[in-house]
Amino acid sequence: MPRLLYADKKGRIFEEPELEAAAMKAGRIFRIDPSELIELPKGSQLFVLPERQAIGYYGSTDDRMISSGRFAVAAFLAPGYTATYSPAYIDDREAKILPLFSYCAAVSYKGKIYVTAIRVDSDKRHNSQFISITSVKRNAKNFKKIFPGNRLIGHLETCALTYGCPNAQNFFLSRYECPLPTAPVCNASCAGCISYQSAKDICATQPRIKFVPKPAEIAGIALYHIGKVKNAIVSFGQGCEGEPLTQAGVVEEAIHLIKGRTHKGIINLNTNGSRPDKLERLIDAGLDSVRISLNSARVIYYTKYYRPVRYNFADVVSSIKTAKKKRVFVSLNYLTMPGFTDLKDEYGALRKLVSKTGVDMIQWRNLNYDPIRYFKLLKVRPVEDEMIGIKQEMELLKKEFPKLRMGYFNPFLPTL
Ligand code: SF4
Repeated sequence: MPRLLYADKKGRIFEEPELEAAAMKAGRIFRIDPSELIELPKGSQLFVLPERQAIGYYGSTDDRMISSGRFAVAAFLAPGYTATYSPAYIDDREAKILPLFSYCAAVSYKGKIYVTAIRVDSDKRHNSQFISITSVKRNAKNFKKIFPGNRLIGHLETCALTYGCPNAQNFFLSRYECPLPTAPVCNASCAGCISYQSAKDICATQPRIKFVPKPAEIAGIALYHIGKVKNAIVSFGQGCEGEPLTQAGVVEEAIHLIKGRTHKGIINLNTNGSRPDKLERLIDAGLDSVRISLNSARVIYYTKYYRPVRYNFADVVSSIKTAKKKRVFVSLNYLTMPGFTDLKDEYGALRKLVSKTGVDMIQWRNLNYDPIRYFKLLKVRPVEDEMIGIKQEMELLKKEFPKLRMGYFNPFLPTL
């Protein structure tokens, strides 16, 4: 039987042997079937949730007990894992919104910490266990000598060493995916944007780049990375920027410079897909793959979360169709929240979107947002019967679309 984990005021974590663990979706409390648990993945972190009392079940009755004075505990999962439940808690009336991270239910089971999660990608590219910060620091110094005056090196050094961005760290380790941030602004205003927040009660976790790099600065580091790394990916659209399509001219020129020198590597764009016309130009310039982010396949919930300016959900769908028509590999960056993503109606809208656009892959990334406030923001209060389960949703999609890839990272595509 999974047991409740809780934290005291000092942040020390304990098991409560008297209480069975519970989990939460959309503010509703559930018992956890042990088949839904996996051991806490290496590289994950545990959070104490202040102003939130842990909840468990007492005995076999359906009575839920608030573990008064004991704070809920959550896991921030290592990349490659998708949460299927949020942690169970009751928040104090005055509780402040949680910081912009994702929160997965964590329990005590068989003497260890387990979580309600699914492994969706076996790639280790963001696993902090395999990243040597000493080497990142040393290489950052060397890169400054190799690229004198290239402002992106200083920006990426801050990303790697101050904000712990794994893509930036991997760039300095010459492996995997090289970030190419370009855009200081965005044409959306996502409630959970990690690079810019105007609200006073919530703070961006990775501030945006403050300048627009020159195409030559971008191409310089992209070509270096492609030259050094087997199966290299270079990616526009990072956590430390706004929307790269707002700088489409610069991105287009940079792609021409890169493709003019090599046909190796994959040039990828992570985007909100707001401007199909500009995306088409980038594809014509040589873009190989695109990842389009959305929290929902339904216009009403997309709009409530993204708060788009001078574009709409139809443009996002049009971008997906444009990219597919041009035979580019398309992933959805599907920002997942247990209790919303697995709603029957949401699943229905997603399967329709997959069916009518032919997207190649879904990346099941955990949405970094307070798991109770999210439902208030979207103004939804689903009941248990409406939730089919994230794992079941993935299985249904796999069955209906056998070629649809599931994962977490942008893949290298040797066939392109
Ligand atoms: S689209 Fe990306 S950069 Fe723009 S507001 Fe949303 S999360 Fe932030």
